[in-house]
Amino acid sequence: MIRPRREAGGDNAFVRDSLEKAWSDVVDTARRSVADGLVVGTSGNVSARAGDLVLVTPTGVPYDRLGPDDAVVVDLAGRQLMGELRPTSELPMHLAVYRATEARAIVHTHAPHATAVSTLVDELPLIHYMAAALGGRVRVADYATYGTDRLAAAVLKALRDRTGCLMRNHGTLVYADTLGRAYDNTAQLEWMCRVWLLAESAGVRTPRTLSGRELTKVAEKLRGYGQPGAAPDED
Ligand code: 13P
Ligand code: ZN
Repeated sequence: MIRPRREAGGDNAFVRDSLEKAWSDVVDTARRSVADGLVVGTSGNVSARAGDLVLVTPTGVPYDRLGPDDAVVVDLAGRQLMGELRPTSELPMHLAVYRATEARAIVHTHAPHATAVSTLVDELPLIHYMAAALGGRVRVADYATYGTDRLAAAVLKALRDRTGCLMRNHGTLVYADTLGRAYDNTAQLEWMCRVWLLAESAGVRTPRTLSGRELTKVAEKLRGYGQPGAAPDED
């Protein structure tokens, strides 16, 4: 059972239950990223925001070893409020995104096609309309050493008016209002990178791409996508 310290609202059963649920969602998402081939080993990291608290995966621990008692909770300044394990080395990047955006969940991966594309272009060409789900043309953040404030700043710059970016010679970062959506959009981004690489590597001719105008139309249409009245997925 999760036993938050006093600073994390440890004597409040509601806080404890919601932290337990959020931690189990973080771990499930991290495990899924390995199962789906978006990361290998302990690469990548996942976080979720609960009020002014942030739950993050620990650094260098295989996700299948994480149990209910391993939750790592920090505040927005990066002070650790819960957990014995050290937080992800990319904590500066996660916190920078939470401080600057409406993000409630973040998924960082080393997805192979996305990482390959990050070495080739400054933004993913508009190969598919699903780029609209990430806010438009997906940019590539400048390279900086993992875990640094410089990398956090480069990612924030690439995220302007977007909810996802590629990270040069490194991977992807996607944020959303729920872990489910952050994960789905990561998978969409990896899929678009794969499609672009497939089309480009056919080598016959340059792939055709969509116009910004077409993408704006899709962004509008996607707002009404799916079943009427369907409840938004909860995390
Ligand atoms: P952590 O194990 O510290 O989360 O690092 C993995 C990673 O992807 C660094 O960029
Ligand atoms: Zn990484």
